[in-house]
Amino acid sequence: MHRKNPPGPHLNRRGLLTAAAAVGLAAGAAGPGSAAAAGPPPGGRDPETFGPAQVRPGDPRYESLLRGDNHRFVGHPDEVQVVGSTAQVVQAVQDAVRAGKRIGVRSGGHCFENFTADPEIRLLLDLSQLDAVGYDPSRRAFEVQPGATLGRVYRTLFKGWGVTIPAGGCPEVGAGGHLVGGGYGPLSRRYGSVVDHLYGVEVVVVDRDGNARAVVATREPDDPNRDLWWAHTGGGGGNFGVVTRYWLRSPDADADADTDADTGAAAADARAAAAPDPRRLLPPAPAEILEALVEWTWDPEKTTEQAVTTLIRNFCTWHEQHSDPAPPYDALYAILQLAHQDAGSFSMVVQIDAGVPHAADLVDEFVAHVNAGTGLTPDGGSATAPWLYVMTWPGNGESGNIITRRYKGKAGYLKRSFTDTQLATIHRHLTNTTGSAECGMLIVGYGGRVRAVRPDATAVAQRDVVMKAVYHSIWADESDDAARLSWVRELYRDVYRDTGGVPVPGEVSDGSYINYPDTDLADPAWNTSGTPWHTLYYKDNYPRLQRVKARWDPRDVFRHALSIELPR
Ligand SMILES: Cc1cc2nc3c(=O)[nH]c(=O)nc-3n(C[C@H](O)[C@H](O)[C@H](O)COP(=O)(O)OP(=O)(O)OC[C@H]3O[C@@H](n4cnc5c(N)ncnc54)[C@H](O)[C@@H]3O)c2cc1C
Repeated sequence: MHRKNPPGPHLNRRGLLTAAAAVGLAAGAAGPGSAAAAGPPPGGRDPETFGPAQVRPGDPRYESLLRGDNHRFVGHPDEVQVVGSTAQVVQAVQDAVRAGKRIGVRSGGHCFENFTADPEIRLLLDLSQLDAVGYDPSRRAFEVQPGATLGRVYRTLFKGWGVTIPAGGCPEVGAGGHLVGGGYGPLSRRYGSVVDHLYGVEVVVVDRDGNARAVVATREPDDPNRDLWWAHTGGGGGNFGVVTRYWLRSPDADADADTDADTGAAAADARAAAAPDPRRLLPPAPAEILEALVEWTWDPEKTTEQAVTTLIRNFCTWHEQHSDPAPPYDALYAILQLAHQDAGSFSMVVQIDAGVPHAADLVDEFVAHVNAGTGLTPDGGSATAPWLYVMTWPGNGESGNIITRRYKGKAGYLKRSFTDTQLATIHRHLTNTTGSAECGMLIVGYGGRVRAVRPDATAVAQRDVVMKAVYHSIWADESDDAARLSWVRELYRDVYRDTGGVPVPGEVSDGSYINYPDTDLADPAWNTSGTPWHTLYYKDNYPRLQRVKARWDPRDVFRHALSIELPR
C-alpha cells in the first residue's frame, strides 16, 4: 500500500468517537477481604489533597458540572460534590442515604445514556479529582483511581514502568466507568479486556442498615469479598457502590506477586526485598505503532451496494479467520468507520505494534483483503509514530463540534460476519435520505486474547466473539434530536429485524456491551425479541450479578435505567 501522511492531527480521525458515539487509603490496614467503617479507607494511602467541593444551584460552578460528555443529558441535583478521597466518598454517601437522596456517580462523564443525569438524582458525586495512578507496593499492583482519564493512565504507566492496559482509544474516557464495564481497545486482541487484568477494587458500599463503608475486594481465591471483585469485572458502573480505587495486575504475574495481608513495617520491608519487578505485572506497551488510514469516496457510480457489502463482508471474514489468541494477527487492530454517504467518504483505521515482524506486510495484506473484489481504489497513507502519542492524542474519539455534543450509540457483538441480508440493510441505511454526515456505524476488531478467557471467569460473558459493531449519530443541535435518534434506531432495528430488533445471542450476534448502554434494549417498542435487556448484556452471568447486588447493595442505593436488579 502506498504510504504517505504521518499519523497526527491532520488525519481525519473523527470516526473514533464517531467511535464513541459511537464508538485511593489509610493505614493500609486492611488486607484482602477486609472492610472498614467510615473514616480511614482500607486501601492504604489517601493524601486528602482535594475537597470536598460542594456545589449547589447559584454557585457559578454549578452549570459547568451538570453535564457529562453527552449534552443530551443535563441533571438537576440539589448538590454536586466533587470529592478527593475515599473518606469523603463514604461521608457523602452516608449523608445522602440518611437524607433519603438518590445518588449519581460520575467519573469521566462519558456515559452514552443519562445514568448520571437522571432527574431523580439529588446528589451527584463527581470523582474526576480522585485520579491518582501509581504502583502500590503493599498490594504489588498498580492502582488507578476512578477520576483518572485513560490518557493519564497510559502516560503514568508508560513513563514510570513501560507497561499498559488494553483499554480504550479515547483518552478522555474515565477509568471509573470504563474499567467496571469491561474496557477494551487497540491492544485487546493481544492482551484481552482490561478486566482480565483487574486484581482488586476498593468500593464504598451501603449495607442493609444504611451504613456506608469502604471495602476491598480482590480476586484472591480465599477473599471473602471475591464476589464483589468479580462483579466489577464487567458488571457495569453505578450498580454496587462507588469505586474509589482499582488495582491492576495481570493474572500470569500472580505467581510472582503473592499477596499477604500483613501490612506491618517489617513485613513491608521483607516484601519490598522480594518484590517482583513492577514492569512484569502488566503487559508491556509497544514502543511504536504503525497506523494506516484508508479512505474510500462515496461515489454514486462506483460505491455500489455490491462494492460496499463486499468490503464490509471482507472486513468481517478477516476477523472470522484471524482472531485466535495468537501471533501474529492478534497484534493487528482495525476499525471500519462506515459514515453515511452524506459524509462524502468512509474510512478504516488499522494499527499494529511496529515492532512485530513484518508489521507493514501484515497491514498491507489486511487492507488488500478488505478491498478485494470491490473494484474500489482507496486513498490514504500510513506512518509509524510513538505509542504514547498515538494513544493520548487529544483528538482521538472527539468529533468536530465538541462544545455541544449530543449522541446516541447502540451496539452489538459479532461472532462472525453479518448475513447478506444484514449487509444489504446496512448499505440501504448508509445511503438513505434520512441520514446525514452525522450518522454512521463502526465495526471494531475484537477477539484474540479476549477469547482465551472463560465466559464466567469475569462478568464479561461474550468471549467467543471477534468484532463489536457500534451504530451512532453525533450531532450538535437539539432541534436535530428526533431525526438523528430515528436514523440510528431504525438502522439497528432493521439490522436485527430477524431477532426482534436486537442482537439476540445466536449464530452471528452475541448481545451487547454494557459500556455502550442503550436504554432502548429495555423498551418493548424497540426490543420485540422476548429476550430481556439483561440477557443481551450479561447472558448467563446475570443471576450471579443479582446475587452480588443483593449482598452488597441490598437497598438498591446505586441504580439507573439499566442497573442490575435485586433478585425477586
Ligand atoms: C468518546 C467515547 C469513546 C469511548 N471509547 C471506548 C473504547 O475505546 N473502549 C471501550 O471499552 N469503551 C469506550 N467508550 C465507552 C466507555 O467505556 C463508557 O462510556 C464508560 O462507562 C465511561 O466511563 P466514564 O467514567 O468516563 O463515564 P461516567 O459517565 O462517569 O460513568 C459511566 C457509568 O459508570 C458509573 N460510574 C462512573 N464512575 C464510577 C465509580 N467510580 N464507581 C461506580 N460507578 C461509576 C456511572 O454512574 C455511569 O453509570 C467510549 C465512550 C465515549 C463517549
